[in-house]
Amino acid sequence: TISMAVIDKMGHIAVGTSTNGATFKIPGRVGDGPIAGSSAYADTEAGACGATGDGDIMMRFLPCYQVVESMRLGMEPKLAAQDAIARIARKYPNFVGAIFAVNKNGIHAGACHGWTFQYSVRSPDMDDVVVYTVVPEMPTV
Ligand code: ASP
Repeated sequence: TISMAVIDKMGHIAVGTSTNGATFKIPGRVGDGPIAGSSAYADTEAGACGATGDGDIMMRFLPCYQVVESMRLGMEPKLAAQDAIARIARKYPNFVGAIFAVNKNGIHAGACHGWTFQYSVRSPDMDDVVVYTVVPEMPTV
């Protein structure tokens, strides 16, 4: 899965996701990619989130919607991302997945469970893409 969020110079935020679903492919499978709030969600007033991982589990929690709504209420992207992953992990300790979160100010973070996850960032003031590595962590409040 590739999920991507963009913030334009007017501050509009958009997100998209693309997956071949190959990992979990069974006939008739829809997966989490096309389900709004599951593998991607964005609102210009709050921020954006993208996800990858075991879609058949993650889609039960709409983790990207959860992250964006948490950021809307003032939660930092790191905690919002960790909280959304922890909600899934409490019910499905063996799931494998990850999300990135970016708020409307461009502050970004990632969270993951069951693997180490990488996401990349590029903005106009950067010379090149920076790759961030995220390790599994429980949220600390
Ligand atoms: N979420 C995708 C799916 O379940 C798989 C992935 O993220 O690689 O189809």
